[in-house]
Amino acid sequence: MKSRYSIFSLARNAMNYHKDWERAWRSPTPKSEYDAVIVGAGGHGLATAYYLAKTHKLTNIAVVEKGWLGGGNTGRNTTIIRSNYLQDPSIAIYELARSLYEDLSRDLNFNVMFSPRGVMMLCQTEHEFRAFKRTAHANRLAGLDCRMITPEEVKKIAPIINDDPNCRYPILGAYYQPRGGTGRHDAVAWGYARGADSLGVDIIQNCEVLSIRRDGGKVAGLETSKGFIKTKKIGVVTAGNISTVVQTAGLRLPIESLCLQALVSEPIKPVLDCVVMANTVHGYLSQSDKGELVVGGGTDPYNNYSQRGSFPALEHTVTALVETFPIISRLRMLRMWGGIVDMTGDRSPIIGKTDIDGLYVNCGWGTGGFKSIPGSGYVFADTIFNDRPHPIAEPFGLNRFIEGRLIDESVAAAVAH
Ligand SMILES: Cc1cc2nc3c(=O)[nH]c(=O)nc-3n(C[C@H](O)[C@H](O)[C@H](O)COP(=O)(O)OP(=O)(O)OC[C@H]3O[C@@H](n4cnc5c(N)ncnc54)[C@H](O)[C@@H]3O)c2cc1C
Repeated sequence: MKSRYSIFSLARNAMNYHKDWERAWRSPTPKSEYDAVIVGAGGHGLATAYYLAKTHKLTNIAVVEKGWLGGGNTGRNTTIIRSNYLQDPSIAIYELARSLYEDLSRDLNFNVMFSPRGVMMLCQTEHEFRAFKRTAHANRLAGLDCRMITPEEVKKIAPIINDDPNCRYPILGAYYQPRGGTGRHDAVAWGYARGADSLGVDIIQNCEVLSIRRDGGKVAGLETSKGFIKTKKIGVVTAGNISTVVQTAGLRLPIESLCLQALVSEPIKPVLDCVVMANTVHGYLSQSDKGELVVGGGTDPYNNYSQRGSFPALEHTVTALVETFPIISRLRMLRMWGGIVDMTGDRSPIIGKTDIDGLYVNCGWGTGGFKSIPGSGYVFADTIFNDRPHPIAEPFGLNRFIEGRLIDESVAAAVAH
């Protein structure tokens, strides 16, 4: 068990010039066999391992990661957290996650910097206004604390917005979730990693899964860059790389991989204390604690496995946002990056069992899976442990693509983050 982070441990370590802090997690060599192995140490994989160990007391488990933990999309996103999706199954899983975020720092004894500063989704066309009103009704029926707000309220919450009624896309109102917000993405990965490690989970970095070995209709283990690991249960949570991992077991998934991009400006004084999403012009904005404006863009218009930003995407995003946020035209952009997102046709995730015994998948979070990490990890751990879908995960099974029971979230928000 790890020693607790507290004001006392901070003071104690300050006396020793911070030289004696315990390592947050170990770097173990893989054992030859585990009860379960999670592939991918992003937020979803680490949260799954944490809840398997904490809730289900399954501790002879490992998380294997080809790079460093949190180095995938979890460390590359724009950290927006909200739960105001359109369909009931989506509301259930995203609100479970959002409510877990409220207490996550205390649960993990690690400050994930959850900041429920409010998320505002602008209505800049009549069509968008009607679509968000529809979502608002669905969310109110599900008991979410969300509401439509007027252009005057929008301007009051975010004074940097252009409220000229004669501009190309005037602000007609917004859909507002006051308890949505942001969190610190790395801290979520680090907090779950530290929590899982302290419960005995082996987190093995720099260990690439090369293939899944099958024994007839069930899994037998994993061939990795650090040798063979025997296990009867494998949870694959590798986001945009999931298709290449599971195809080694002969499984094809309805997933497309695309590079989604984001960028940050130079740091400036506080100008924005909520998240604003402008779906019509396609971009969104928040301000980090360091003062940088965090700008979210779109995906490359073709499938790829790149993790880099591209100039056309940068130009498109900034151009689109300038009219709504004129302040952007005066800012220098500091850096941009990309992550490989895993898109399904209905823009909803896939969580659950596969036809191969002992092989479970959790993917398809696409451009919006940071917000769902705690809820997804919680229900996926339950699914793996009990070998049946958790009730909240049940609608997200792979069979929905065969049965035509899609959970269409593509219209709920053009920018799904
Ligand atoms: C630019 C950008 C902005 C975003 N903005 C938001 C946002 O504002 N809000 C939001 O909710 N979501 C957002 N997202 C989406 C969100 O980041 C992802 O949905 C989420 O982080 C996915 O987490 P994950 O754990 O499934 O995947 P990842 O964090 O990508 O983790 C998967 C891990 O698997 C590892 N892996 C891959 N192949 C192998 C292998 N063969 N062997 C071992 N390990 C392997 C990878 O190295 C990686 O570390 C954004 C994404 C991007 C790229």
